[in-house]
Order: sequence, then structure tokens, then C-alpha cells
Amino acid sequence: MTKQQMLQFVTVERDMPNKRPPDLRADDFNEIYADYAREKAKVQAARCSQCGVPYCQSHCPLHNNIPDWLRLTAEGRLQEAYEISQATNTFPEICGRICPQDRLCEGNCVIEQSGHGTVTIGAIEKYITDTAWEEGWVKPIAPHSERRESVGIIGAGPGGLAAADILRKQGVQVTVYDRYDRAGGLLTYGIPGFKLEKDVVMKRIDQLEKGGVTFKMNCNVGEDISFTDLQKTHDAILIATGVYKSRDLPAPGVGAKGVVRAIDYLTASNRKSFGDTVPEFDNGELNADGKRVVVIGGGDTAMDCVRTAVRQGATSVKCLYRRDKANMPGSQREVANAEEEGVEFVWLSAPKGFTGDVIDGVMVQKMRLGAPDATGRQAPEVIEGSDYIEGADLVIKALGFEPEELPALWDVPELEVTRWGTIKADFETHATSLQGVYACGDIQRGASLVVWAIRDGCEAAEAILDQINQAAAVAAE
Ligand code: FAD
Ligand code: SF4
Ligand code: SF4
Repeated sequence: MTKQQMLQFVTVERDMPNKRPPDLRADDFNEIYADYAREKAKVQAARCSQCGVPYCQSHCPLHNNIPDWLRLTAEGRLQEAYEISQATNTFPEICGRICPQDRLCEGNCVIEQSGHGTVTIGAIEKYITDTAWEEGWVKPIAPHSERRESVGIIGAGPGGLAAADILRKQGVQVTVYDRYDRAGGLLTYGIPGFKLEKDVVMKRIDQLEKGGVTFKMNCNVGEDISFTDLQKTHDAILIATGVYKSRDLPAPGVGAKGVVRAIDYLTASNRKSFGDTVPEFDNGELNADGKRVVVIGGGDTAMDCVRTAVRQGATSVKCLYRRDKANMPGSQREVANAEEEGVEFVWLSAPKGFTGDVIDGVMVQKMRLGAPDATGRQAPEVIEGSDYIEGADLVIKALGFEPEELPALWDVPELEVTRWGTIKADFETHATSLQGVYACGDIQRGASLVVWAIRDGCEAAEAILDQINQAAAVAAE
């Protein structure tokens, strides 16, 4: 196919893979989008205009070579498309599913500016790699030779796993420590199956294990093993622990039974999907079945909570957010999915307090958007006298996450943190204030995205390789 046979956006409309109808979606935790049929993927990829300066690529945190793999897909050369796609992305099928493409690659696709729908980059990236798995093109890591140096990675989320992949490919001995029983971090226990089915994540972890990465699970660094012991064991350490301290609401009644944290709620639900026994779910504490559910927050986590509650059989699901729809941080695509599934968004509303020892209502105050604050965002202001009670049997707080106090928890006061509590590290090398210790992902940048954690993990791995290569060169002199 020539370049001219691309550019099909003029005659072919943007067409996402089919979405299951909302009433069927509500019955299970399976993904909501079907796969592209081969022909449809080709036709959609051929809509790309093969820009000389591809803004999609520059706005992808991994700088994926999008135009090339679109062209190869349009030509039916899928294995080559896969090779190019995986060269810059450790988990293309995961990013294709859960990146907020509207804010990244697709949000910057030029054909949208000419009045046409963007190329469906994410769906095609997912299609290419899902096909690669089916065809057996995804192979475990097989390093050319083994090295004696070892790296300890704390945290088996996307940041830690991306680094493990790069290091292991170079023959480095890699041990990943995680306090959970399964690897994957938020890919496994945060993000629900309707956005990312769990076998997609488990398949990757299995491949890493087959490629020689050692996983030490149920190992809470700071409790089961000390940080200083890890420093003595490994040539370098990468901290990729994510951010898990939930922000709270200083409102009266917030301690009522039935007011729960989003991370606990989502983890319980994900564990149920794995078939685990989860007492807090089975006793109803973290189960929305038959309840009036109110979720507080407007980010991705809140969207995942409302849609999980729908699937658990809540009688009603409302989302309170203190700003309006245009100013919410969550992806508009996810808001649309939630609305289709019957979630009611109550914009410009904030909780003032909670009623009942066992929750029975949320005191809601209405807000309006006032003058912009220092960040340029319009600050919400209370409309006096507008309060009302919203009945609720389960309230889920999804107000964001902050870092745990690692220097104190790990007894390493020399590990410098920023004023937000994230680990202070160079944004290119990811080196921290401690020699041989690096940091990546949410614990360095604050709650962010999977694709940024992957990028950080790759960069940190490259810097660690530089460090151990230099040390090896000095030793050889
Ligand atoms: P994590 O994924 O958090 O992994 C950190 C790992 O470190 C965990 O496994 C944890 O158990 C382990 N750990 C922590 N402390 C210790 C310790 N002391 N010892 C041993 N192990 C430890 N991003 C997107 O791009 N798209 C989305 O749709 C999206 N949806 C999200 C939905 C929810 C509900 C949440 C909470 C986040 C979502 N995100 C999404 C954000 C994304 O998941 C994170 O940015 C990303 O997972 C960060 O990766 P990470 O590797 O830094 O940390
Ligand atoms: Fe787009 Fe994310 Fe894929 Fe980059 S990794 S091309 S931002 S979907
Ligand atoms: Fe193709 Fe859009 Fe990227 Fe241009 S910006 S190369 S049209 S996907």
C-alpha cells in the first residue's frame, strides 16, 4: 500500500470496536469493547495521513512510532507492526486499553483538526499486540548472556515491571519485591476488569517470570525485609512503590460505618474477580449490592468505583463532584461509559458531612465556580443555604492518593522527598539522593498514569545499566 492509499480519513469515518450494550455490560466485569475484526483494523489504520511531524507520537509519553505501525497494519504486515510497537512499549496491549488517548496520542491527531474523527490509535495498538499474543509472537526474554550484577525493584506495578523487562533483557539478575500476593500493582488490584481484564496482566507477569525475573511476593519492604538489607544485597535499588495513602475528608460523620476508601473497595472487587475469599466483601462492608451508593470525587478512581457499583447490583449510583463536567480530571470517555451504564453525576456538589452511625445520608452543599486560583482553575465556592441530604447506604471516598512516608517507614532519613512527600529524584536518570537508589512511577511523580510509569521505569533501567556498566569497567581496569 502506498502512502496515497493511506489518508482514508476523508472517506472512511472513525469507527471504534463495537461496545457491548450497557445492560449486558452491567452483568459482568468483562471488558466492554469487542476486538477489531482484521479487516476493520486495516481500514481504520489506513485513515492515518502519515504526518511528516506526527503530533500523536510527540504526545505519547513513550514516543511510540505510531505512523509506522499504522501503515504496517493497513498493509496487513502485523508481525512487523508488532515489532515496532513493542520496541518502545513494554505493555502495548495494556496502554491500548487504558491510556486516556483523548488527552494523549489521539487528542493530538491532526485529522481531528480538519473536522474528521481521530485515528483510533489505542484500539489499533491493542489489536496489534492481542494478535501477537494469539500468533505466539510475544516471546519470553532470552538474554544473550547472564551478568552477575543484581537489581532489587520494590513494587511490581507498571513502573517496576517495565524496568525489570529492560534490565533482564541485558542479562541483569532482577528481583522484584511486592507486598501484595499478585504482581501488577494497580493494574491488578486498582483498575477494574471492565477496563483491563486480569488475564491480560497475568500473561505479562508470567512471561517476565519465564524470562528469569524473580518475584518475591507478600514481602513488605520495611516490615518483612529492611531497605538497608536490600541495599546490601543488590548493586542498585529501584523504588516503584506507587502512592497508596488515601486523601480523606475532614467532614463530620466521616467515620460512620459504610463510608469507605476507594482503594479498599476496588481491591476487594478485583480480588473477588480472581475468586479469592474476601471477608469484607462477603459481609457486605465493601459490596454495593442492593445499596444506594454515593461516590465522592471526579477522577479515574471515582469513575471506576461508580461503574463497579453498577456491576455489583447497586440500586442507585450517584457521583458527587465539586466542579462541573468540563473541569473534572477523569477521562470524558469514562464519564460517557458511566452515564450509559446509569450513573447519575451530581456536578457542583460537595459533601458537608454524613448522617447516621451506620451511614444513611450525605449532607450535600451546592457549589458554583468562582475566580481562577493560582493554578488558573476556577475555584469552587459554596452556595449558602443550598444544603440537602442525599440518602446513601454506601459512600466511597475517591479523593486521590498521597505517598506514604517512606523515609520514616523504612528508617532511611537520608532518602530525600519533595514537599508533597514524593521521592526526590532526577527526572531523566531517576537517581535519588542515595547512591545506587532510583525511583520511578507514581512515587516519584505523584498519582499519574500507567504510560508515564512505564516510561519512568524504562529510563530508570537505562540509568541503572549505565551505573553498573561503569562499575564493571572500573573493576576491569
Ligand atoms: P503501582 O501500580 O501503584 O504499583 C506499586 C506496587 O508497589 C504495588 O504493587 C504495591 O503493592 C507495591 N508496594 C508499595 N509499597 C511497598 C512496600 N513497602 N514493599 C513492597 N511493595 C510495595 N492510569 C491509566 O493510565 N489509565 C487508567 O485507566 C487508570 N485507572 C486507574 C484507576 C485507579 C482506581 C487507580 C487508583 C489508578 C488508575 N490509573 C490509571 C493510574 C495508574 O494505575 C498508576 O499511575 C500506575 O499504576 C502507577 O504505577 P506504579 O508502578 O508507579 O505503581
Ligand atoms: Fe497512545 Fe498510550 Fe499507546 Fe502512547 S502508549 S500510543 S499514548 S495509547
Ligand atoms: Fe496519523 Fe493522526 Fe498521527 Fe498524523 S497525527 S500520523 S494522522 S495518527
